[in-house]
Parts: sequence; C-alpha cells; structure tokens
Amino acid sequence: MIFDTHAHYDDPRYGDLDHVVDEMRRNGVEAILTCATDYASCETVLKLAGQYDLFYAAVGIYPHDIIKQGRWDADRLRAYARHPKVVAIGEIGLDYHYDDTPRQMQKDWLCRQLALANELQLPVSFHDRDAHGDTLELLRQYRPKGVLHCFSGSVEMAREITKLGMYLGIGGVVTFKNARVLKQVVQAIDLEMLVLETDAPYMTPEPLRGQTNRSDYIIYIARQVAQLKGLPVEQVLQITEQNARRVFQLKPKP
Ligand SMILES: [Zn+2]
Repeated sequence: MIFDTHAHYDDPRYGDLDHVVDEMRRNGVEAILTCATDYASCETVLKLAGQYDLFYAAVGIYPHDIIKQGRWDADRLRAYARHPKVVAIGEIGLDYHYDDTPRQMQKDWLCRQLALANELQLPVSFHDRDAHGDTLELLRQYRPKGVLHCFSGSVEMAREITKLGMYLGIGGVVTFKNARVLKQVVQAIDLEMLVLETDAPYMTPEPLRGQTNRSDYIIYIARQVAQLKGLPVEQVLQITEQNARRVFQLKPKP
C-alpha cells in the first residue's frame, strides 16, 4: 500500500484526474499529500482533497512563488488550514538554486510559515535546494515537525535532521545511477525516519524518466530502497506508510 507524501496534482498536465485516480488506486495507492505552491493552488488542492478520498492537502507558499503573491496574508493561510483534510503546511522552504527571489525574502516568508505551522500544530513539507546551512539553522530555531522533502544533503546532515525529529522524503532521485550520496543516506538512516514521495509530476523515477510522474510509480522508489536496505519491498511500503501516518497525524490503518 502506497502513501505518497509529496506531489502536485493541481498541475494542469494531469487532465482527467478521475481516470488517473482510478488507475492509481488499482495499483495500490492509498493516500497522497498534494502540496500547494501559492494562494491560488491552495484553493485547488483543497478542492481535490474534497473530491477524492485518497488526497490530503498541504497549504503554503513555495519560495519562488512569493513575489507574485504580493503581500503575506496569514489569515488567508489560516483559513485554508482549517479544512479537515489539510494535514501540513507546504510546500515551504528555501531554494538558492535560482536567484529569482531574494534570499532574505525567502527566509522572511519561511519564518512566518514555520511560526504558523507551530501555532496550528501542523507538520511541514519542507523544500531545501542548495540551502542546507540556512535550512538547518531555521529548523533548529523553529523545531517544526514534518518532512524534509526530496532530501538532497549528506549523511551527516540526514543524521542532524532526523535527530531534530524530522523525516526524510525519498523520491525518484534515489533510482538515478549517479545518486551515490542519497543511496548512502538511505542505507545509513533508520527506515523509521524515511517516507516515500514522488514530487509528481516532476522527478519521475527510472526506468520511466521523461514521462509525467504519478504516485503509483513510487513502487520503483520502494524497490530501490528495499534493495539498499536488504528488506522485502512490502516491508518498505508498510513501514514508510506507517511513518507517513505518524508524521501527518492520521489514524493508523486498522
Ligand atoms: Zn514539490
């Protein structure tokens, strides 16, 4: 049974979602956290969560979508977060790979959203690209619960993050040949602190690279993790699903 802890089903390339959702369900997908990136997509992910039982929603503003939002509106996010299927604040974080958004502005919006997550007692879905130093500093300062999604740091950083109680999101990158460090991270960190994710429609795993990603493709990620851990794939799916339910405060499966 598959729990996809990070995806973007508000993306227009999915077209008729009824059909995709049916197929994914038949392929064992049980729950998907679909993450917003700006105010408008907050409304879309809430709609999806209302429409399909397998979708849960994260609401938040993504670092490179800050500028077009205009002003910070805590009340607006607070209102979205009140929806019963919102289980996280996200996708929030820092992205220093591109310089579209000044770093200080990214940090300001991130701090406000981390404070909001703590106020609402919600975990976060956290994006860190080329911003490991500031990410660690702010996680130490705010101590949110949640997932560092698409983890891209070193084994040492993985140990620091999990010591803070945050989970590592493992996605399609782990299936790539050149993902040497991420494979080491998966081997070094206890399975109890890992969750699986697609970041769909992006980050499609091998052997399907180039196609639009979707949550049932997590099986390729699970197989790679299973191989690295020397465990049966069923066990990897089961433990990571339990982890996801724990971090997003959902009832365990009966
Ligand atoms: Zn994402």
